[in-house]
Amino acid sequence: MKPSLVIESLLSNHLMPRLQPALGLKTKVAIRRRCKDCYQVKRRGRWFIYCKTNPKHKQRQ
Ligand SMILES: [Zn+2]
Repeated sequence: MKPSLVIESLLSNHLMPRLQPALGLKTKVAIRRRCKDCYQVKRRGRWFIYCKTNPKHKQRQ
């Protein structure tokens, strides 16, 4: 392996977690619907909020 390849793999390993911050979901202690199109879904023991019209409303408990 060339030194540059080692550095690249280290960088990509280091950056990977930052590239997937929980799929853009906000993690909150108390989640709530923010408009009439938001709906709650229970997945893996956690409540998620999804929204048809405004994806920014997505939250995770
Ligand atoms: Zn909404």
